[in-house]
Amino acid sequence: SNIIAIVGRPNVGKSTLFNRLIGHRKAIMDNVSGVTRDRSYGHGDWIGKYFTVIDTGGYVHGTDDIFEEEINKQVELAVKEADVILFMVDVDAGLTGLDEEFANYLRRTDKPIYIVANKADSNARAHQMGEFYALGIGLEIFPVSSQNGSGTGELLDAVITHFKDEGVEDPDAGIPKFAVLGRPNVGKSSFVNLLLGVERNIVTDIAGTTRDAIDSRYNAFGKEFIIVDTAGVRRKSKVSEDIEFYSVMRSLRALEDADVCIIILDATRGIEAQDVNLISLAEKNRKGIVILVNKWDLVEKNTNSTKEFEEEILEKIAPIKYVPVIFTSVVTKQRVHKAIETAMEVYENKTQKISTSKLNDKILPEIDRYPPPAIKGKFVKIKYITQLPTHNPTFAFFCNLPQYIKESYTRYLENSIRKHFGFDGVPIKLVFRKK
Ligand code: GDP
Repeated sequence: SNIIAIVGRPNVGKSTLFNRLIGHRKAIMDNVSGVTRDRSYGHGDWIGKYFTVIDTGGYVHGTDDIFEEEINKQVELAVKEADVILFMVDVDAGLTGLDEEFANYLRRTDKPIYIVANKADSNARAHQMGEFYALGIGLEIFPVSSQNGSGTGELLDAVITHFKDEGVEDPDAGIPKFAVLGRPNVGKSSFVNLLLGVERNIVTDIAGTTRDAIDSRYNAFGKEFIIVDTAGVRRKSKVSEDIEFYSVMRSLRALEDADVCIIILDATRGIEAQDVNLISLAEKNRKGIVILVNKWDLVEKNTNSTKEFEEEILEKIAPIKYVPVIFTSVVTKQRVHKAIETAMEVYENKTQKISTSKLNDKILPEIDRYPPPAIKGKFVKIKYITQLPTHNPTFAFFCNLPQYIKESYTRYLENSIRKHFGFDGVPIKLVFRKK
C-alpha cells in the first residue's frame, strides 16, 4: 500500500495534519513488536487513491526536548516504510536548530520528501516560508494550515504522483478486532498491558488533539489483532459518576466495533448481574464471546473448582451455552496466551463459511432422525439448508411451512449445526424460508 510518513520536531502540528489526512476515520496505535514506541497510523484517500499515514510523533514526553535518538527513530521509520515523507516545519516559529538536525538525518534517503510549512494561515505568514529553502532538502515546499486545511489539497496532489498503485482501502480489513470488557477493577488494563509486554507509561494525548477512542494493533503470541478503544481501557481515573458514564458509553462503542468481546470477570466475586447483562448485550449484537475468569490466583482451589465455576456461569447466562470460559491470572500470567488463542479461534469460527453441500450432508440426516413435529396434522418438510453470505453466521432452512417451526426445534437445529461445525463462542442465527 501507499505510505506517507509525517516527521518533524514536536509541536509543529504533525498530529493535526495526520487527523486531517485520515478525515473521519479512526486512528490506530501501532504496538506491533519491533516498534518500541507508540506511533499512530490511519488510512485516507485522495482522488481515488488510498494511502496509509504514519504519525511518528505521538510519544513526546510533555516537554519540548527531543533527543537525537528520538529523531533517529522517526527518520529511520519514515525512511524504511514510507513512500513519501512529509517533513513538517512551523512557519510561525521559523527555522530552528532542530529542523536543521532533522534535515541532516533526512538527507540519507532518496525517497521523495516534501517540506510542509505549517501554520501558514495568512499570506504574510506564508511569505515567511522562503527561509526553509535553506534546509536544502525536499522536492518542494507547501504552505499549509493543518488547522483549517488550506494547502493540503495541493500537497496531496503532489504526494499521490509518487504512488505506485491505487492503494488499498482498508489494509487492516481481515485483522480480528477484540474488545476487552468488564466491570471496573476486574483487570482489563492489566490484561492489555501484559499483551504489550511492557508497563505503559507513555502519554499519548497530544496537545490540541482529542483522541477519544483509539484502536491499538498488537502482535502478541505470534498473532496479529486489534484491540478496540484501549485508550478507554488504559486510562485510569478516580471513580466519579461522570467518568463511570463515559466509560460505559465507550465500552458499548467498543463492543459494537469488535468482532470478538473478551469479557473479564473477577474470580473473587463470581458472576454478577452486570456481567450477565454485558454478555447478553454481546450476544444480541452477534459478537463472538470469550469469558475470562481473572484473578484465578486468588481463589482457593480444589479439584472441581474450574468445572463448578464454569457451570455456574453457564447457568447464569442460559440459554447461551457455547461460550468458552478461560481461567486466567494476569499477575501470574496464567493462561493469558490461551485467552488470546481462544479469541482468535472464536474469530475464525465467526468468519467461517460452510458449504451448502457439507451442511446438507450433515444436517439433513439429523433432521431425518428427529423431524419437526407435525402441527394440526401438517408435516413440515425441510428441503435444504444454506449459509447466507452475511457478515454474521446465518443459516437459511428452506421448507414448505416455515411458520410451523417451533422455538424448541430451532434449538435442536442450532445444536446440530454446533455439533458438526463447532461455532464455539459465536452466536448463530437460523431463518426459515418458504420453498
Ligand atoms: P480494570 O479496572 O478492569 O482495568 O482493572 P485493573 O487492571 O486496573 O486491575 C485492578 C486491580 O486488580 C489492580 O490492582 C491489579 O493489579 C489487580 N489484578 C488484575 N489482574 C489480577 C490477577 O489476575 N490477579 C490478581 N491477584 N490481581 C489482579
